[in-house]
Amino acid sequence: MRVFKFGGASVKDASAVRNVAKIMTLFAGEKLVVVISAMGKTTNALEAIMKSYWNQDGESNRLIDELRSYHLQIEKALFEGTANAVTQEVDAIFEDLKNRCSQKHADNYNFEYDQVISLGEVVSTKIVAAYLQQQNFKCAWLDARKMIRTTDRWREANINWEKTEELVTSAVNKPFSEGIAIAITQGFIGHTAEGFTTTLGREGSDFTAAILAFVLNAEDVTIWKDVPGMLNADPKYFDNTVLLEKISFREAIELAYFGASVIHPKTIQPLKRKNIPLHVKSFIDPHAKGSVIQASEDFDANIPSFIFKMNQVLISLTPKDFSFVVEENLEDIFSYLSKENIRIHLMQNSAVSFSFCVDADKVDLQKIFNHFTAQYFVKYNEGLELVTIRHYDQPTIERVTVDKKIYLEQKSRHTARIVMKDVSSATLRHP
Ligand code: ASP
Ligand code: MG
Repeated sequence: MRVFKFGGASVKDASAVRNVAKIMTLFAGEKLVVVISAMGKTTNALEAIMKSYWNQDGESNRLIDELRSYHLQIEKALFEGTANAVTQEVDAIFEDLKNRCSQKHADNYNFEYDQVISLGEVVSTKIVAAYLQQQNFKCAWLDARKMIRTTDRWREANINWEKTEELVTSAVNKPFSEGIAIAITQGFIGHTAEGFTTTLGREGSDFTAAILAFVLNAEDVTIWKDVPGMLNADPKYFDNTVLLEKISFREAIELAYFGASVIHPKTIQPLKRKNIPLHVKSFIDPHAKGSVIQASEDFDANIPSFIFKMNQVLISLTPKDFSFVVEENLEDIFSYLSKENIRIHLMQNSAVSFSFCVDADKVDLQKIFNHFTAQYFVKYNEGLELVTIRHYDQPTIERVTVDKKIYLEQKSRHTARIVMKDVSSATLRHP
């Protein structure tokens, strides 16, 4: 039994859904558990609906109608005018959503968020399953809200692995024992013991695929993407990217930690524990080899990888009493950053100062400055790039630092990290 995952881009319109069916034909005779995300940008659209619901700004009906017609247009193209029962089902889901949004919401935003946002996956899997059935595939639609058991940590739910194993095994065995080879289910969503819907964090469908593979002891997992596989850099920032054909679980975890965005970071750990290989393949070119993430570390050092984080701010704190930076200062600094949920991408300290890098788009800089100016002299540089090179050598460092002013450089055995800026725009500032 194998697990497949199709993300939003792979089901974003009717021809994309037809392509999914075409890929399935390549695996005739195999048992497949297929995890599917919401179509295209549906999750973002649902977030806008959620906001409008929460603010009761009167926009929610219009936004829901827009999202409904996006799905309707896909259904029409797939079913070519023939009435399909799924259209009514999907309509009923959007109708329920309208009703929900016209009523007063519960006090807990994150709870309501999960009830609303989860519908994208429900709708997309209903449509894809109906299409596959119409195309004479034997396939079953399984409800992840009855299989993936989680805590009630809304929006970032934690998995109850034992209960999930029990629920998934019995749900999946049923169609398989009846000769139905394809089980379609939703990524990203789960349920609490009380039966409320939860979500696993944005982009969580990869993680769902890993959970299912883990509890079912799958042969392997394949994530179908619009890229040829794992590349050694984001083509947005880098020319001549190279495909990483084979890397280890450990390397994939490192790359995800430093910010490579191909695979959701939580995905690798369960697969590593059971040694289940993860393939990343192109849904545009399904015969191409793609990448495989597996146990052997033998190939990791063959190709250096580059991870870029743009728009970074490097903040330096120096105690006002000119004391050394000691454990007490660090404790104070970290407890503030952790309380405020501020993610540090890199840090370094000298005798009298502590420096750290944050994402300008994800933090409130002024608030950070205000907090620290009581006890520290604060300096910062903005508009920086942080590049991480795995398996670096001198030429790779030279390649990324051409015409850059370097602010900070850290090297360990396998990893070099450089904070830098275009020479033309480098200046130090005070808040
Ligand atoms: N649809 C969800 C999201 O966009 C989950 C996923 O695509 O992995 O975040
Ligand atoms: Mg998505």
